[in-house]
Amino acid sequence: MGGELLRLHLPTPGLTASVVLTTGLCHRARELHRLERVSALLLAQGITGGVLLASLLKGEHRINLQVECDGPLHGLLVDAGADGSVRGYAKNPNLDVELGKGPFRWRPALGNAGFLSALRPLPEGEYYRSSVELTHFALDEDLRHYFAVSDQVPTKLAWEVVPDGDEPLGTVAGVLVQTLPDGDLDALEAIGAQLQQRLQFGITSTAQPTVDDLAAAVLTGFDAEPLARLPLVWRCTCTKQRVLAMLASLGKEDLQALLDERGGAQVTCHFCGMRHEASREELAVLLHRLGTQA
Ligand SMILES: [Zn+2]
Repeated sequence: MGGELLRLHLPTPGLTASVVLTTGLCHRARELHRLERVSALLLAQGITGGVLLASLLKGEHRINLQVECDGPLHGLLVDAGADGSVRGYAKNPNLDVELGKGPFRWRPALGNAGFLSALRPLPEGEYYRSSVELTHFALDEDLRHYFAVSDQVPTKLAWEVVPDGDEPLGTVAGVLVQTLPDGDLDALEAIGAQLQQRLQFGITSTAQPTVDDLAAAVLTGFDAEPLARLPLVWRCTCTKQRVLAMLASLGKEDLQALLDERGGAQVTCHFCGMRHEASREELAVLLHRLGTQA
């Protein structure tokens, strides 16, 4: 399994919490994209952040969490759904630089300028994108900043990537806590102040921590009722049909050029590495259709 999501309700302070274990997803991403260490560590954080954002959704909604930066990572993109399906990639899979110290830890990968943005659904079903400039150059800090700027709901979040010996992705887990309307903001602050340490404690105090173990660790002292439990799975949504639609959107001239010069097209999906091939005949059909539309 790629991981698990546990949604909880804390009735007395009026809070909700999402606790996620994403270790399996992060390993899948590393294998699929052949990620070097630092690319793997940063995409693991992006995946965990994306899953936490998606944990706030219902139905068939999805979110995209995107980072663009001028450092050698260049950026990453994660697409996560309310159904627990996740996919993502790092723009540079080959990064294994020496990391910095303290607050400058991720600068060698992220650089000195960039932004973090999320595409999220509105209750009415439309999607909107909001973004913040990277100011902390630590993805958890910058996602907290994003919530402070873009979200009306007071939110605390943390994640941890804890190595296991030589394995950099030993356990990857995250937690997000929000207030309900009329929720107790002091309780949120109290939980938030200890979130990182308690999550780390929850991960390191048990050999194979479950989401329940982690929830117990981060929400110590509060009664929490499970609301939902969901397996997290790595899944790509690319199809031949979508690739053909994308090729059609290139327009007649570019399609004709592909047909004349290459006799077909090959499109590799960034998310899963799948190579989709469009034959000469398929391109000719697309061109014919575009011709009859004009
Ligand atoms: Zn794909």
